[in-house]
Amino acid sequence: MRFLVLSDVHANATALEAALAAAQGRWERAVCLGDLVGYGPDPNEVLDRLRALDVAMIRGNHDKAASGDPSAEDLNPIAFLAAQWTRKQLRPENREFIEQLPRGPLRVGELTLVHGSYQDEDEYVFSPPQALGGLVSSPTNVTFFGHTHIQGGFSYRDDDMEVIQLRVPAGAGFAALRIEPGTRYLLNPGSIGQPRDSDPRAAFAIADREHGVIEFWRVPYDILAVQQRMVNADLPAPLITRLAFGR
Ligand code: ZN
Repeated sequence: MRFLVLSDVHANATALEAALAAAQGRWERAVCLGDLVGYGPDPNEVLDRLRALDVAMIRGNHDKAASGDPSAEDLNPIAFLAAQWTRKQLRPENREFIEQLPRGPLRVGELTLVHGSYQDEDEYVFSPPQALGGLVSSPTNVTFFGHTHIQGGFSYRDDDMEVIQLRVPAGAGFAALRIEPGTRYLLNPGSIGQPRDSDPRAAFAIADREHGVIEFWRVPYDILAVQQRMVNADLPAPLITRLAFGR
């Protein structure tokens, strides 16, 4: 089974379409690690598209905030403004949809999905100590997480942890990681809609469990078109400029 692994789409329909076009014909089952909405200008378009693809999804903190969940962690003022804007835009059926999204961990075949860490959906996993719990506890040898918007992750074998850093050269499409038997992996596909690893291209992964290969993809998209829609929607300026820098 080949899985298309999406995360942190953040209501960016142009980036999502570019990713889906690049991945076409290369996967059988799609999953998403949360933050479908928040920040971007296209919440209904993104939800309509993902729902039509029958994507297995868990919620992220921005989905919680946009659905009015009182347990949503305190967002910074700019993210809070974007969450309020998103909530107003959502059609009733899409608001209901994000309200009933399950929290991770979610098992889908040979993959485990979480938004933040394995233990806490709101925790950021930046460092090996933060990754250890998920690497040890997850029921599958490959677990995908989101939330940091940084493509890459961690591997663990015989009490030895390694940080996995990937660079996809311009025009290359993807960088491949081979899954070694006996090693456990906690991997982030990167963010579709608001990358933060200094590469503004949309990020996602394709996990081929049969052949033991994970492809980490980067795909350029029309950032200016998204920025223009954000200007028209009067979304906060810092959210608009950061897309061009991937920060
Ligand atoms: Zn996010």
